[in-house]
Amino acid sequence: MNIALILAGGSGTRMHSDGLPKQYMTVKSKPILIYTLEKFQACTEVDHIVVVAHAQWEEKILQWAKEYGITKLSGIARQGGSRQESVYNGLEACLKYEPDADDLVLIHDSARPLVTPELISGCIRGAFGHDGCLPVIGVKDTIYYSRDGKTVHSLTDRNTLFCGQSPEVMKLRPYLELCKNLSAEQMLNIRGSCELAFQNGWDICMIPGEENNFKLTTAEDMGRLCNLLECES
Ligand code: C5P
Repeated sequence: MNIALILAGGSGTRMHSDGLPKQYMTVKSKPILIYTLEKFQACTEVDHIVVVAHAQWEEKILQWAKEYGITKLSGIARQGGSRQESVYNGLEACLKYEPDADDLVLIHDSARPLVTPELISGCIRGAFGHDGCLPVIGVKDTIYYSRDGKTVHSLTDRNTLFCGQSPEVMKLRPYLELCKNLSAEQMLNIRGSCELAFQNGWDICMIPGEENNFKLTTAEDMGRLCNLLECES
């Protein structure tokens, strides 16, 4: 069984969108969260979808799911104070499906609406024979290391550097056990879910990500999304 855990509990403060979190903004008459959910709905290997969100959005999400045919949505969990705490709450909510030791969770940022069903399938396949899998993009620019952000202190070998995307796929039950041991403060310092798995010695496979699977962060990203959706229509 494969369960998609869609994180929509962020406040999106870097978007400067007058308090409306980016995942709930509308582009071409459709909420961004729905673009994301449609990709997991379309991926045949995904059995269930759980969304992590603030209580005030629950009714709206259920209404949208009905309107846009997201029939796999079968749970909404409360967001935490950090991305990782939201993950933890979502994993707890997944227990109602009584997952086996080998069942997978696909942790995805709702703010990556251009993920594709093919990439989702690829991540699931990539996890076979490993403890987890995530999509990555190679670094194109030269990366400099600086301790003060003002002068260059050393160079890095960009061939060894990769930017992580989502979905991050992991064995659900063992991953939940890792999260249980963390304090809220420790969770605050975790940026990506694979970080915790790697720190605990897990074997995480990387597969090629997709340029369009970027995370909406700034107003410029929103312009890029609009342009790409224009091209699709
Ligand atoms: O803040 P950032 O863009 O890194 O968040 C990545 C994803 O995690 C977003 O989809 C956001 O909605 C989600 N998130 C969450 N709960 C939080 C913080 C972020 O679900 N407390």
